[in-house]
Amino acid sequence: ATSAMATHQALLWRQWTERVTLLVDRRLAPLPGDTELERLEARGVAVLEAAAEAVVGEPGALVGVRLGDGRVLGADAVVVAGSMQARSELLESLGVATEEVRRGDTVMGTRVATGLMGATSVAGVHAAGNVADPAAQVVVAAGAGLAAGAGINADLVEEEAEAAVAASRAQWFDQPHWDQRYAAHGSVWSGHVNPQLAAEAADLPPGRALDVGAGEGGDALWLAARGWQVTALDFSEVALQRAAERAAAQGVGHLTEWRHADVRGWDPGEERWSLVTSQFLHLPDGGMVDVVRRLASAVAPGGTLLVVGHHPDDLGTGLRHGRREWLFAPEDLLPALDPAQWDVEVDVRSRTESRHGQPGVTVRDSVLRACRLT
Ligand SMILES: Cc1cc2nc3c(=O)[nH]c(=O)nc-3n(C[C@H](O)[C@H](O)[C@H](O)COP(=O)(O)OP(=O)(O)OC[C@H]3O[C@@H](n4cnc5c(N)ncnc54)[C@H](O)[C@@H]3O)c2cc1C
Repeated sequence: ATSAMATHQALLWRQWTERVTLLVDRRLAPLPGDTELERLEARGVAVLEAAAEAVVGEPGALVGVRLGDGRVLGADAVVVAGSMQARSELLESLGVATEEVRRGDTVMGTRVATGLMGATSVAGVHAAGNVADPAAQVVVAAGAGLAAGAGINADLVEEEAEAAVAASRAQWFDQPHWDQRYAAHGSVWSGHVNPQLAAEAADLPPGRALDVGAGEGGDALWLAARGWQVTALDFSEVALQRAAERAAAQGVGHLTEWRHADVRGWDPGEERWSLVTSQFLHLPDGGMVDVVRRLASAVAPGGTLLVVGHHPDDLGTGLRHGRREWLFAPEDLLPALDPAQWDVEVDVRSRTESRHGQPGVTVRDSVLRACRLT
């Protein structure tokens, strides 16, 4: 006996032979209780309390077991139940959790803890077979292997989809793509001022303006032509280079500064502008709220923040790309502004847009205009 499971194990052997002796050394295992003793006796299993000192015999010619008092208990076979330890070193080196396998109070061994489809505690690592279930026979181990394989494939499907989403988003939100896009065309945009900026800034007294997502500089050049000192910010160096050349050609180079930065991580530091404008900059998953917060921190007291984007309803026009969550309604941006510090107006403005000589389509611009009170 090596554990409290010894009675069960002896009864298992009893299925094979009528001559079974359960040898119990109390230092290694508890004596069977009364109920167990009655069952063993009823099945004809002898119980002997003694220490097993040695196996007696030669290889291939077993004699029996020498007991602590020197007697030899004759036997054709000597069996000792071992503990089933999962060979989990490799998995543990990946951080995979293991646990004890218990039968009642008895620890039978260890296993790698698995859940649905062999999932372990480490994402992407699945386990099957005896390492996860020491009692599994071949058919069970193989079945678990099949399920784990399906689980791994399910992980890969998710990973492929995530990678595809990242690649698809990169087209719209990552700098290398925008550099390629600008480099591939002489002009991506019309070069004209955006209509909501023209409407809102026409009556503002010129001062320092920050144009975020300036692109090829259509808005910045319009502002500079009206006497504004413009800082134009974009993450595409190709676009900024083009815009700077246009500014020089139009004689407003001295009124424009072209700054290379990704607004998602940008901080104005101590700098402030009397007008901060962002026209049709879009980000996924509500990212514009954080950007508006950054832009708001760049507005001087009494200054104006103007953020304009495509309204999500525009997706139905066929003129917009992407997903609803990439666009915004003006109200979506309100969490970025403290009402105690800002006088905020939100509006959705319709206008007609046409492309490639097609008939005009009504589109809607989301407009947030805020004046900094303090
Ligand atoms: C004595 C005995 C009799 C059995 N009789 C039957 C039976 O009659 N019918 C039945 O269906 N089942 C039987 N089984 C159970 C059967 O053996 C298992 O169900 C089956 O082997 C489990 O397959 P597995 O792939 O999970 O593990 P294993 O067959 O044990 O394979 C694991 C392999 O991984 C290797 N390994 C471990 N760690 C590392 C490492 N770090 N790097 C590289 N290799 C490593 C091991 O050496 C081993 O070869 C018996 C088991 C035993 C012990």
